[in-house]
Amino acid sequence: MGPGPSDVPQRILEAMARPTIGHLDPAFSTMMEETKALLRYAFQTENKLTFPVSGPGSVGMEMCFVNLVEPGDKVIVCVNGVFGGRMVENVKRTGGIAVVVEDAWGTPADPAKVAAAFAANPDAKLLAFVHAETSTGAQSDAAALAAVAGRHGALTIMDCVTSLAGTPVLVDEWGIDAAYSGSQKCLSCTPGIAPVTFGERAVAKVRARKTPVQSWFMDLNLVLGYWSGEGKRTYHHTAPINPLYGLHEALRMLAEEGLEAAWARHRAMHEKLRDGLETLGLGFVVAEAARLPQLNSVYIPAGVDDGAARSRLINEFNLEIGAGLGALSGKIWRIGLMGYSARQGNVDYCLKAVKAVVG
Ligand SMILES: *Cc1c(COP(=O)(O)O)cnc(C)c1O
Repeated sequence: MGPGPSDVPQRILEAMARPTIGHLDPAFSTMMEETKALLRYAFQTENKLTFPVSGPGSVGMEMCFVNLVEPGDKVIVCVNGVFGGRMVENVKRTGGIAVVVEDAWGTPADPAKVAAAFAANPDAKLLAFVHAETSTGAQSDAAALAAVAGRHGALTIMDCVTSLAGTPVLVDEWGIDAAYSGSQKCLSCTPGIAPVTFGERAVAKVRARKTPVQSWFMDLNLVLGYWSGEGKRTYHHTAPINPLYGLHEALRMLAEEGLEAAWARHRAMHEKLRDGLETLGLGFVVAEAARLPQLNSVYIPAGVDDGAARSRLINEFNLEIGAGLGALSGKIWRIGLMGYSARQGNVDYCLKAVKAVVG
């Protein structure tokens, strides 16, 4: 019950144990098409260019930045935790100019500050933000942030690694141009696959680049030949066949449950965990309105040793929870309720274990 990877259901592990076929096999192509359609459902988008990148969520992040940022492009980046900081690094390494809009860790990105940054930088071409900051448990208002970018004609890159399938992610309704996620958080698959989606404006920007994408592997123009163009797929790289079986199964499970039901389950489990933790005297880091149900960050009670308590949880209870990062290290715990981990038995077990180590 840490900040990912989440528990992987047996059904997904069994799907991954199927025989490895060729990545250009017609049966594999059929599965790829199904996976793309299921991902469009998960992202709530009609974007044709929606597919799973071979690599962890961080590769999904790089895929967005290396393709959409050209040297000299100004990018407004919201930073309210670890992952926003990584976006800044991505902008710099692609030769872009990062305009950082900072908010305190544990609070959402402020759309008013973003509007002020656009007013001061009318030449900014992109806005990048993290929808669900896993380092703190805060969720930002993606619709409001994207609306500000839209008013300034800028494209948006959204990190929805932790939000996808846990809380609403509405790529088309919000007007997001590029988004990336990960397989191991609320999708409850094994790590190593990054679902991504790119809208038409994003694809047009990539096609109109004056400089080639610095990364050969992540160049969308080349990957496109592999993931689109049915019947005429060409070799680009060898896809991770078995992990993709797993993702396909995870997405089928999501479609069977239904997105709304999955969101409601995460919320209901969070409320049970919250009530129990508050009864034990643990206070939440993030204000109710911005709190992620799938990532519960709570202050470690006074007098409780962080390392010793988490060691006991692992050794005596076989339960992993996350530590605080950066300035919050040693001060908070991050308890994940992601995907298959968000279930009643886990909540009850976690409360029992936490009670034993803080009591
Ligand atoms: C986990 C996470 C990532 C990185 O995903 P990896 O699969 O670990 O590379 C990026 N952004 C956020 C918000 C995350 O929670």
